[in-house]
Amino acid sequence: MADVVLVTGGAGYIGSHACKALRAAGYLPVAYDNLSTGCREAVKFGPLEEGDLADRARLDEVFAKWQPVAVMHFAALSLVGESMKDPAKYWRTNVLCGLNLIEATLAAGCRNFVFSSTCATYGDQDGVVLNEDTPQYPINAYGGSKRAIEDMLRDFGASHGLNSVIFRYFNVAGADPQAEVGEQHVPETHLIPLMLDAIAGKRPALTVFGSDYPTPDGTCIRDYVHVSDLVDAHVLGLKWLEAGKPSRVFCLGSGEGYSVREVIARSREVTNREVPIIEGDRRPGDAAKLVSGSTRALQELGWTPQRSALSTMIADAWRWHQAPEYES
Ligand code: UDP
Repeated sequence: MADVVLVTGGAGYIGSHACKALRAAGYLPVAYDNLSTGCREAVKFGPLEEGDLADRARLDEVFAKWQPVAVMHFAALSLVGESMKDPAKYWRTNVLCGLNLIEATLAAGCRNFVFSSTCATYGDQDGVVLNEDTPQYPINAYGGSKRAIEDMLRDFGASHGLNSVIFRYFNVAGADPQAEVGEQHVPETHLIPLMLDAIAGKRPALTVFGSDYPTPDGTCIRDYVHVSDLVDAHVLGLKWLEAGKPSRVFCLGSGEGYSVREVIARSREVTNREVPIIEGDRRPGDAAKLVSGSTRALQELGWTPQRSALSTMIADAWRWHQAPEYES
């Protein structure tokens, strides 16, 4: 049998794309998901083990059954705005479940752990080029909870020999170019899918969250990276660990920043349709600018992003948006 990788959150947006990439690379991805935000239909490339990360007995059972060579940990609550309204939910779910998973991984004798972290761990560092050595000062509970898991991984690396690759994502966008899986959150909060809904008339308009940021056009700047490129990096991260290389942090972004207004303008071009917008207030917890200045993943992992041009990401997201499986 192919080597098994346990993919927490394998029924979610990034996790389902990771399962496809793992399968293509010859692994058997076993999705572990409580289906609270994930979708059963997105588990197409290996088995689904339904379960909650808070349920240690269920985790132990799944580890014993599949004996994974590695864990890829995507399952988490990931909404900046929600994390500002209900921080306890984020600290409890993300941190306690993360600890549970790490302990179950070690108890099962597995030592390779790939973790989905975020540029939200940096906070708002105006003018600073963000790379793996930039200090982390999260300004929302989501970023704080992810940094806490990064800290745990370092500690368990030192104490128990847990080897980890931590990926700090910038803004993940796009969809599988074959539209087998894609982005489908309920409720949806992310810029590009909300904008496509507004373009398709599924929502009345896109609200622009704040036009008075200290950026050239007043809207927030983000670095968007294609989900297929992102998960390719995870396979490279897994191979890095399997080759016995040391625990390492990698930023995953394109190095290009686009404002909300620039993303809107590009979507208009790609879809050839109008984007109805409303000017709204700032969303609490949003940093003005988050752009990756890192080339570590390119140089050390040999990562070669293929589809992270903004127009390609929007076109792939738009194709998925029109696929029969997409429902808003
Ligand atoms: N955004 C917006 N309107 C929306 C959703 C998002 O203006 O309906 C902005 C948001 O303030 C941020 C950028 O788009 O500056 C990307 O937000 P998203 O939620 O997609 O990702 P995040 O940066 O929170 O990870």
